[in-house]
Amino acid sequence: MTLFTGFPPIKGYRWFNIGVLILSPSLALYGYHRLWSHRSYNASLPLRLFLLMGGTSAVQGSCYWWARAHRAHHRHTDTDRDPYNSKRGLLWTHIGWIIVKSDLHSGTTDISDLRNDPLIQWQHRWYFTLQAIFGHLLPAMMPGLIWNDWKGGICFSGALRLTLAHHASFAINSLAHYLGETTYDDALSPRDSLTTAILTLGEGYHNFHHQFPTDYRNAFHWYQYDPTKWFIAICSLLKLAKNLRVFPRNEIQKGALRMKLKELKTLQDSLQWPREEEDLPVISWDSFQEQSKSRDLILISGFIHDVSSFMKQHPGGEELLRSSIGKDMTSAFFGGVYSHSSAAHNLLAMKRVGILMGGVERISERTVPPAARLYILDRLNNTESYMKS
Ligand SMILES: [Zn+2]
Ligand SMILES: [Zn+2]
Repeated sequence: MTLFTGFPPIKGYRWFNIGVLILSPSLALYGYHRLWSHRSYNASLPLRLFLLMGGTSAVQGSCYWWARAHRAHHRHTDTDRDPYNSKRGLLWTHIGWIIVKSDLHSGTTDISDLRNDPLIQWQHRWYFTLQAIFGHLLPAMMPGLIWNDWKGGICFSGALRLTLAHHASFAINSLAHYLGETTYDDALSPRDSLTTAILTLGEGYHNFHHQFPTDYRNAFHWYQYDPTKWFIAICSLLKLAKNLRVFPRNEIQKGALRMKLKELKTLQDSLQWPREEEDLPVISWDSFQEQSKSRDLILISGFIHDVSSFMKQHPGGEELLRSSIGKDMTSAFFGGVYSHSSAAHNLLAMKRVGILMGGVERISERTVPPAARLYILDRLNNTESYMKS
């Protein structure tokens, strides 16, 4: 049995029902979250009224209560003062915190602006009546009054819509702290994920959101799924919204760069690198000559390399390599005989066993193998590198 087994031929769509299923959960987030919880833009009075009634229709508590909990979540993320502390597991963050009584209490946060906002206080005071009208009566009655579809009104515009709206919002607290990438910072649990973005109606780039909560966007790139961002931008064009806040692009990209470097550093740390310059013995020309009689030593760019283990693998032939023992092959290696590849240079550096007295230039193309030219240093842990000198 497939997903569409028994599905009848489609003769049209119930656009009203589809509209309320999609729009009402989104409206809760357009206003409650980005306007009042984060003040990421300013909205005109008609837009504020529209958003507040839209938010009320999702029946997720008054905006005052919702925004207070949400600000506590941002301020105390991943601690017990975070109402949906991700360390307590998916079930708790998704629905547990709302249906279970416990000794946990949300941490304090500044809500003076909301306390002094007459519209928000009015909605808070009349919330029970308003949610009955906008959350239950109107959505259930409209299909009944317009198409005489009372059952559809109660089931779709009423019950199913509210269930989806709640789980879409709950998923911001559960999935968005569980699934995806830490694109801008990995100190805390928020993550970026397209799957979460689709399930939460565009609130899935949560790593970005926690790093830059006052930005009116939830996703940095214009094409990333975030209908609220597009809605706010259109409202701004229509002069219904203004002062859209954006975090400096330069600083956003620093976060992204750091996380990419961190990933590369992990790879870098898993690889073997040439011995540090200061760990190599300094050898005189005479000593180099003497030692070359018993070991296969070659001088290139002031470094003495032991190529004994490489004799049979040399792509240019063993004979050529053998004839180079005890000699300075710098110009031959770098093009005089054959211009070696980056891979050959990287491999050569692994065979360093000494430095010719007075023979090594400081940093140059010939002394730093290609793979090490962008070597990542951890400044806090002061990781040493042979490249530093
Ligand atoms: Zn969060
Ligand atoms: Zn938020």
